[in-house]
Amino acid sequence: MGVVVQKFGGTSVADAERISHVAQTVAATADAGHSVCVVVSAMGRATDDLLALAASVSRDPHPRELDMLLSAGECVSIALLSLALHDLGREAVSLTGFQAGIFTDSRHGSARILTVRPERVADALRRGRIAIIAGFQGMSCDTDVTTLGRGGSDTTAVAIAAAVGADVCEIYTDVDGVFTADPRVVPEAVKLDMLSYDEMLELAASGAQVLMTRSVEYARVHGVRVQVRSSFTDGEGTWIVGDDELAERAIVSGVAHDSGEAKVTLHRVLHRPGVAAVVFGALADAGVNVDMIVQNVSHEGRTDISFTVPERESDRAGSVLADAAREIGAGAVEIDPDVGKVSLIGAGMRSNPGVAAEMFAALGAAGIDVELISTSSIRISCIVRAADVERATQVVHDAFADALAYSAAREAVAPS
Ligand code: ADP
Ligand code: ASP
Ligand code: MG
Repeated sequence: MGVVVQKFGGTSVADAERISHVAQTVAATADAGHSVCVVVSAMGRATDDLLALAASVSRDPHPRELDMLLSAGECVSIALLSLALHDLGREAVSLTGFQAGIFTDSRHGSARILTVRPERVADALRRGRIAIIAGFQGMSCDTDVTTLGRGGSDTTAVAIAAAVGADVCEIYTDVDGVFTADPRVVPEAVKLDMLSYDEMLELAASGAQVLMTRSVEYARVHGVRVQVRSSFTDGEGTWIVGDDELAERAIVSGVAHDSGEAKVTLHRVLHRPGVAAVVFGALADAGVNVDMIVQNVSHEGRTDISFTVPERESDRAGSVLADAAREIGAGAVEIDPDVGKVSLIGAGMRSNPGVAAEMFAALGAAGIDVELISTSSIRISCIVRAADVERATQVVHDAFADALAYSAAREAVAPS
């Protein structure tokens, strides 16, 4: 039998009891004859606690040192899980990101995996051992410890699965799979049996934190089969597969929300070629991720440009823009953190022009004001007041409930 990668998130390893439970799941998989690689996150809220600890000793924690600190969270989990497996009579070996061969660029806090050299992992598997790998962390070319960004253990798991040629990458979490919306916000959300990499990518990028966006990109590029399932209950979970494996293309497959956005407006920008390049070039150089961009109609040769950035990057965006505004002779920079985004995703919407109108009608009927709109061929996103985000998610889910339920039960292409 083949290699299986199993990733357990923070809630799944939150305390000693949960770790023992994970050890039993892993041991049962090994007993079924599989070679098993396990990727674990830090226990419960350990990463948040470490961040708070850093903030209590430093006003602006040095990125290199912060990564060193945060990586400790996952190191605790691998050692504890390995100890629990030894107690069950299994040979397990805990490995840091570096020992597992995860090499990254040196962008501390959001490093990208450049290559995986899984020799030690492969060696452990050859010897019949269970490899327990620390998620979220890697090593830069300068041999500094790096971290991959919040939720990064998902990416570690997929990268290890690709590197060792695993049959499946199982992502164990605190929900039964990927739902048509965050079940914490929309209680009637339905679990999707299957969805495509593209749909999952848009859902994740639009705020559905169940999988880190980069892990889905990685899985798509390397063709890794991903299964999202619960570590608390049994069940098939959700399969993320290639577009061609799905029997049909759903018009809509999910609603995602993101409360962590800020709206930035640069007032009275001269309407002249090259100005937008100065503004967005400066933001890109500072590593600020810009999402929706709207340029208003110009009056007397000047216009306002609005766009969104992740809320945690809004301070950096503000100081970069203050300089850029001076350079191009623009007016004031306004930052509004009290906004959020609701997005409707579906690979079939590109051939169904009525979807956007129906979404706006539902939001309008609920008295929810839409401030910015952006679309891709398989997504419509609306910026609304932060206080309205959860209600907007519910309203859009209600409006498309039948279509969403239909796509939740989509099947795989019948084998020929
Ligand atoms: P883990 O610690 O296991 O990595 P996360 O908290 O990162 O877990 O992700 C799981 C959470 O993602 C769920 O508890 C759920 O609230 C949230 N979530 C957001 N959108 C969705 C969705 N569409 N389907 C399932 N869960 C979602
Ligand atoms: N522990 C890290 C975090 O909390 C990585 C992860 O859980 O995937 O973001
Ligand atoms: Mg996660």
